[in-house]
Amino acid sequence: MVELAVSDLITDSQFHQRKESLRGNGTKQEYMIPFFSFAIDAECPGTWARAGTIHTPHGTIRTPIFMPVGTQATVKSVSPEELRAAGAQIILSNTYHLMLRPGSELIAAFGGLHSFMHWDGPIMTDSGGFQVFSLGHLCKLSEEGTAFKSHLDGSPHLLTPESVMRIESELGADIILPLDICAPYPYTPVAAKETMERTHRWAVRALVAKEEYRPEQTLFGIVHGAFEAELRRESAHFVGDLPFPGLSIGGLSVGEPKQLMWEMLHEVTPALPREKPRHLLGVGSPEDFVVGVGLGMDMFDCALPTRVARHGGLFTPGGRVNIKSARFRTEHGPIEEGCACYTCRNYTAAYVHHLARAEELLYFRLGTIHNIRFMLRLASQLRESIIAGTYPAFRDEFIARYKPSSEKVREEQREKWKTARSHIV
Ligand SMILES: [Zn+2]
Repeated sequence: MVELAVSDLITDSQFHQRKESLRGNGTKQEYMIPFFSFAIDAECPGTWARAGTIHTPHGTIRTPIFMPVGTQATVKSVSPEELRAAGAQIILSNTYHLMLRPGSELIAAFGGLHSFMHWDGPIMTDSGGFQVFSLGHLCKLSEEGTAFKSHLDGSPHLLTPESVMRIESELGADIILPLDICAPYPYTPVAAKETMERTHRWAVRALVAKEEYRPEQTLFGIVHGAFEAELRRESAHFVGDLPFPGLSIGGLSVGEPKQLMWEMLHEVTPALPREKPRHLLGVGSPEDFVVGVGLGMDMFDCALPTRVARHGGLFTPGGRVNIKSARFRTEHGPIEEGCACYTCRNYTAAYVHHLARAEELLYFRLGTIHNIRFMLRLASQLRESIIAGTYPAFRDEFIARYKPSSEKVREEQREKWKTARSHIV
């Protein structure tokens, strides 16, 4: 495709000049390429699942899609080439981490994230709000923004809706998010309403501030409202009516029972505009991906598939297995029969088991590649089932077959990660 987008940092007027020159020389198709578009290719008649196509300046994304998380401008342990080979179409990176280290100005000086990290596909950046919120006592909220101390060196910082637009323009992702407030769980209804209303005011400020920066970046709005059905609907209407080309659903998967998260999506989705893509922030275990698609979500991001891989948890159609367990010690077959990932094509489960037990560096790469491939294959299967009109059966069969880790294990892991996050983020 024509690279309308720029991987280096240029001013708006330079960008328009470049775009105009493309128009002059280009074909009709080039002329028509917008910075961002979303088209619905198919909808499931029995659920809210849909298959769509998103165009961004760095490429096309077929939805539903899972976005691997590259917190520090890298999906841990794998190269961009390996990500591509595993089927990744778009990745998500974290503004909070990158603004502190190495700094958004430095990344801008290297031509933005795409060029800095050598990933030429679409990128989304979050706003940093969630990570700042998880700093707890190190974070102070006001109408102006969020003041916090760096987890790296204790230095003070202030994020405002306006400064986040500047930082994200320096990072240069294709899709960016505005500063929001993630209400904690548990919460009080009064606090939920106050934080939602402030997030709405910040959304409007972000839209105004964005005008100063790069037009080729697309700003999504974020729907909040904690776990209050009425607030969720209100937020969906308010944010959905603003001129955001896409919407993220925030503030879910923050420690609440799973059922509560699904109940909130039941409330939110019917209140969202049909024509805008919907991103479920921070959710992306295999089973949540499959269920979330049926509740109308198009895009998912989550560090879980790559994080559990590094700890030995690998996905198979029958559920998550622990590659370190003794049953793999003499396994001649791959981790997953029929998986076309680099790991399964070339290595026995016994070898991967050995690497994991010995904590060899190659294990992190092989385990991560497999889980990313699993998630992206699942994305393709979901899309195909929606187009074929068989999504409900696919979902039911997947859920019946796939055994996630038990709720108790999940709780323990969640607590452990929350504690770890509050210290090292
Ligand atoms: Zn595999």
